[in-house]
Amino acid sequence: AKENGSSQYQFYDAERDQTSIEQIILENDLELAIQADQMRLVYQPKVDIRTGEVIGLEALVRWQHPLLGVISPGQFIPVAEKSGLIVGLEKWVLRTACTQVKKWLTEGRQVRPVAVNISQIHLMKPDIFDSIMELLTELALDPELLELEITESAMMHNEEHVIRILNDLRKAGISVSMDDFGTGYSSLSYLHSLPIGCLKIDRSFVSNITSDSDSRAIAEMIISMARQIGLAIVAEGVETEAQVALLKELQCYNAQGFYYSKPLTPDEVSVHLPVIFED
Ligand code: C2E
Ligand code: CA
Ligand code: CA
Ligand code: CA
Repeated sequence: AKENGSSQYQFYDAERDQTSIEQIILENDLELAIQADQMRLVYQPKVDIRTGEVIGLEALVRWQHPLLGVISPGQFIPVAEKSGLIVGLEKWVLRTACTQVKKWLTEGRQVRPVAVNISQIHLMKPDIFDSIMELLTELALDPELLELEITESAMMHNEEHVIRILNDLRKAGISVSMDDFGTGYSSLSYLHSLPIGCLKIDRSFVSNITSDSDSRAIAEMIISMARQIGLAIVAEGVETEAQVALLKELQCYNAQGFYYSKPLTPDEVSVHLPVIFED
């Protein structure tokens, strides 16, 4: 049992203890996980809902822990952010995703741009642009095949720095999407001043558009606003045919979600990427 501040015994809380033990294990093991080859990437297709064509992929990280099994990023990304390990992890994600695209190209496949998630901590690193460019140069990969997804809230810190990095990326041909749009509080004027190519409407609105009139109104507003300022738009977390129909009606033609596909292993993705030449 533990003591609290008033020196009274508390009942043993097995559930809470387990959480904190797990937390400690995660922090310790995370540092070694990349070297121990326990991290994997899966790729979720982004689809044109008019044609069903795959227009892009999003790389999502999975941790195959030797004792705990597959751990979802929702559990360890916050731990990685707290400890600063996120930067090393995302560098690994960038390298692995770009190397995978390179491999598909070498196999003669028709590839699509791959999007990688970038955390606020990583975005704030002064060398982020240079290190991404170095990677692309080393792999001789076309910058148009890499996209970055940055959450709305991450873009709202240190606006000058963010605008400078985004400008550099755009000039280099790397496009940026604003992720989880609708969950932060960015103003229309700030949005307009950002050199981004795309908004991803957060799943929290998309999952309610057919049942909740507020969510529908918000989605409708985001879509028409994006159109007016010339931004592409992707609806995330699309799960049902009814959502697809409504998105079409609202003229949002790009979607991602379990209705189309769960995140796939590289081999599973290959099936969707036709071979256009063989050597
Ligand atoms: P996100 O960027 O919003 O990624 C989409 C998440 O929604 C993924 O969960 C995906 O599997 C899930 N999803 C996709 N379609 C559907 C659907 O139709 N229904 C439902 N219920 N869920 C769907 P995942 O892979 O667990 O990732 C969770 C979050 O972890 C991501 O949210 C992202 O914020 C973060 N994450 C993943 N990989 C990375 C990374 O390399 N770096 C950073 N910073 N964050 C990452
Ligand atoms: Ca994302
Ligand atoms: Ca998202
Ligand atoms: Ca989201």
